[in-house]
Amino acid sequence: MPRPRKMKILHGPPLPQNRSLFKPAGIPARQVPVNVLTLVEFEAIRLIDWLDKSQSDAASMMTISQPTISRILKSARKKIADALVNGKAIQIQGGDFKRHFAGYACSTCNNEWKLDSKQAYAPESCPKCDSEEIYVLKREG
Ligand SMILES: [Zn+2]
Repeated sequence: MPRPRKMKILHGPPLPQNRSLFKPAGIPARQVPVNVLTLVEFEAIRLIDWLDKSQSDAASMMTISQPTISRILKSARKKIADALVNGKAIQIQGGDFKRHFAGYACSTCNNEWKLDSKQAYAPESCPKCDSEEIYVLKREG
C-alpha cells in the first residue's frame, strides 16, 4: 500500500496571483515554454536562497527530511536556471502543502479572516468591504 504523501508546511504568506507567473518580456505567454515551480519548491528557494536558512533548518520548518529538501531545492534551482538560460517562463503553482500562518486582516474595516490552509494565492481584497488595504496576520508560535 502506498504511504500517504506527507504535507509540507509553508511558512511564507501566499503570493499575490500576479506574482505567480514570470516570463521573458515582450513575448506572449502562449509562445513561451513554461516551467512549473511548485509552491513547495518556491518555499525551499525562499527559505534557503532568500532567507539564508540552512537546509537542515528549512527541512525541519517544512517538516521534511534533509534528503527531501535537498532534492526539492535541486529541482527548483534547475527549473529557474533553465528558464533564465533558455528564455522560458516560470509558473508557480501546485504541490502538496499546508500553510502555517494565521490569516488576513483588513485595515479599513478591521475584518479578520482565515484562509484555507491550502490556498495558493493571496486574496486581493477584503471579502467584507472590498478594500485592498489588507495585511497578513502574524502566525502563532
Ligand atoms: Zn474590510
